[in-house]
Amino acid sequence: MKSSAAKTPAEQLATPIQYVKGVGPARAELLLRLGLRRASDVLFFFPRDYQDMSRLATVAELSEDEPASLEGIVEEIDERNTGTGRSMLGLLIRQNTEYVRALWFNQSFMRPKFAMGQRVLLIGQPRRNGMRWEFVHPKVEWLQPDQEIGSGRILPVYPLTEGLNQGQMRRIVAGVVEHYGSFVEETLPEDVLDACDLWPIQPALSQIHTPQNMDALEQARRRFIFQELFVQQLALAMRRASLARDNNAPALPCSARVDARITRLFPFELTADQRRAIDQICADVALTTPMNRLLQGDVGSGKTVVAEYALLLAVANQCQAVLMAPTEVLAQQHIRTLTRDLRESRVRLGLLTGSQSAAERRQLLAAIRGGEIDIVIGTQSLLNKEVEFARLGLVVIDEQHKFGVHQRAALRRAGQDPHYLVMTATPIPRTMSMTAFGDLEVSSLRETPPNRQPVHTYLGEPDKRESWWEFFRKKLREGRQGYVVAPLVDATEDAEAVGVEQLFERLTNGELEEFRLGMVHGRMKPAEKEAVMQAFRDGGIQALVATSVVEVGVDVPNATVMTIEGGERFGLAQLHQLRGRVSRGPHPGFVCVFADLANDDARQRLEAFVATTDGFALAELDFKLRGPGDLFSGKQHGLPPLRIADLLRDADTLEEARQAAQRFINTDADLSAPRFARLKRQVLNRYGEALEISDVG
Ligand code: ADP
Ligand code: MG
Repeated sequence: MKSSAAKTPAEQLATPIQYVKGVGPARAELLLRLGLRRASDVLFFFPRDYQDMSRLATVAELSEDEPASLEGIVEEIDERNTGTGRSMLGLLIRQNTEYVRALWFNQSFMRPKFAMGQRVLLIGQPRRNGMRWEFVHPKVEWLQPDQEIGSGRILPVYPLTEGLNQGQMRRIVAGVVEHYGSFVEETLPEDVLDACDLWPIQPALSQIHTPQNMDALEQARRRFIFQELFVQQLALAMRRASLARDNNAPALPCSARVDARITRLFPFELTADQRRAIDQICADVALTTPMNRLLQGDVGSGKTVVAEYALLLAVANQCQAVLMAPTEVLAQQHIRTLTRDLRESRVRLGLLTGSQSAAERRQLLAAIRGGEIDIVIGTQSLLNKEVEFARLGLVVIDEQHKFGVHQRAALRRAGQDPHYLVMTATPIPRTMSMTAFGDLEVSSLRETPPNRQPVHTYLGEPDKRESWWEFFRKKLREGRQGYVVAPLVDATEDAEAVGVEQLFERLTNGELEEFRLGMVHGRMKPAEKEAVMQAFRDGGIQALVATSVVEVGVDVPNATVMTIEGGERFGLAQLHQLRGRVSRGPHPGFVCVFADLANDDARQRLEAFVATTDGFALAELDFKLRGPGDLFSGKQHGLPPLRIADLLRDADTLEEARQAAQRFINTDADLSAPRFARLKRQVLNRYGEALEISDVG
């Protein structure tokens, strides 16, 4: 074995955790549970929080107005039953000549953690009780007799595992930083450090673990946040660059003649925004570099016709095109729209869904393979390997947020890279379009088609129910149609919730008994669902009781009223999508949402929903209230999670990192310069797989 003097820095950093001073085999087991295998893992095991000890209080300084940290010695331990079935644990803590009490109720497991004479730190909200200050359920730190916690110190708080306490963890990390910190080499190029005013890695490492003051902590964190975002943005920029090098897509040029032939099919004039999006798409697909474009537009802004244009342009260039929808209901609707618009043309359509019979499917697949079908519409079953195309030129994916990076890649086939257009009705907050969708170009539809009537939204108070249903009935009698939406299919197991089945039952025999009702939800068979949707479109059904399956894309312009039950269970973006169902025609729409407003978040969400109909504003707000949320969760976009950066809080740093990354990739698309070696390794380790970028350029 080499002596430690002969080891390279890399070998030093790779020292197995067990051989790190103060660890040993037993603790190594515990640290392994936290994913800490080697010395370097510990260096980059950042605190999850900090305790500001610079304001350590004396008893005389305590106040009911603010929380405090107070250090002292355990002088008495008292555990008893309070008589009402509760147990109480009380400590008397001495600080010099003063005493305070710490209390816990029904937490007997705390008892063995204290010993007489033990030095502790209490953190919590002090309360005056008679002559004495009390801390009820404070956080506790167990201190060594000689442990320094003098003022001015900011203590790191690490994630822990059973069997390892905060003090032990701090000592282990501090030891590793001391012994191994100096072996870490800088990853970020000098010019980036300079241009973005970032701390070099050595001081940043030491200060992120044991900050001297708040400013130093900020600087240290900023450096690592930047680094994490920079690495991510480099990966995305490399992917964009590699996509741009690809020239395997068929060129689909447009001409004035083709344009006239396509637009003639549409039953209305295009809006200026639709025209602009189409022009951007035409410019992209005229090249052999595959298009990767995101079309975002609020509900009802008219994205379908833009998609239709692109599909027909592919067909005009003797290519096949695909339109993929997230649900079968939506796929059916798309085929209906296309069939209507193309009734005078020779374009051949095919619908591929999960619910077709094996024979139907086989026949269809053969026709697609043989090039006898021009436009294939379907659900995710289109991603199946057995679907082969004669000459696939373009793929349109409707409601993109349901499809991640991976699924997009799955439609690529040997020898042919199609152009991609993905569409979403949930506007993508700027930070998300820089990350989860960072490999896409963006077109936006902001204006709505002309003659669109406004939609009015009300928050239903319980005593308004009767008058709202009276209004709902009036609209149905005038010939309009309506939706009644509930969060669950069946609420028999959850007494608080509203289920579609119960609601249907109730309305049929109650509020809406004089009308023809239908019901649709995700547990029904596709054919049943389609039959109900068809009856609703034809007007056979006057009011549709539904779950959020009607959330995306359903287009029945005569439907103008909507009741939403259990509104607190829907996200803001989702509510807005639902509302989009009743503002699609020449009549004004009306939505009333009934909700349990006990929860503050829900109240804020619903008040915002009522206050504005601007989908872009609501999407930003939803993002602020709930964070990236389920729409953009890691699972769906396929990027590894961020460890220290927070897209909401660090939006400015993200912007900076993105610009710096793009500058780099513009001059060196593969980061092949030797000075980027370390950086490149980090990029590939973390993002290589997710973004399908690799060393072979
Ligand atoms: P979304 O963007 O939500 O998918 P759609 O494409 O379903 O919206 O369009 C919503 C409605 O607006 C449809 O009924 C469609 O026919 C209509 N529409 C779209 N564009 C126009 C336009 N330029 N002029 C008039 N109506 C339009
Ligand atoms: Mg749509």
